[in-house]
Amino acid sequence: MSVICTRCGSTNVACEAIVNPNGNVFKRYTDESFLYGQCENCGAYPELIDPNEVKMDIDRLYQEFKSYSDTEPDYANCRIVYKDDGNDLNVKFSLRADDKAAAMDESIFYHCDSISDLKSLAEYVGEDFILVECFRFDKWTD
Ligand SMILES: [Zn+2]
Repeated sequence: MSVICTRCGSTNVACEAIVNPNGNVFKRYTDESFLYGQCENCGAYPELIDPNEVKMDIDRLYQEFKSYSDTEPDYANCRIVYKDDGNDLNVKFSLRADDKAAAMDESIFYHCDSISDLKSLAEYVGEDFILVECFRFDKWTD
């Protein structure tokens, strides 16, 4: 597991945790401790994420969607954080380029080619945002 700063991608980060003071044994993270991290690389107080955990959530939600649908999802409801100011936003990632996606273009934040393309956005890559949370997959309604 590698937890990173959503602002600069560094792993030189800290967050709140419960520790047994007798021997400093780690017990668990406090609630929402990843939302209020510290980064020693960029000096910000960013949200922290574990990209592998976000990807595992995406896989799990995709399997869930496929368990009650024979078709592929049209889009994913997700939350992103902008790297420059740390603001977050709930957005839709389109997963298919078709007529419906074209019609829904105004509500689409970003076009992906596939689930693996979507998962790659949870890495600190070239975009000006990072995908921090996926809520569910869905179809455009008629
Ligand atoms: Zn940082």
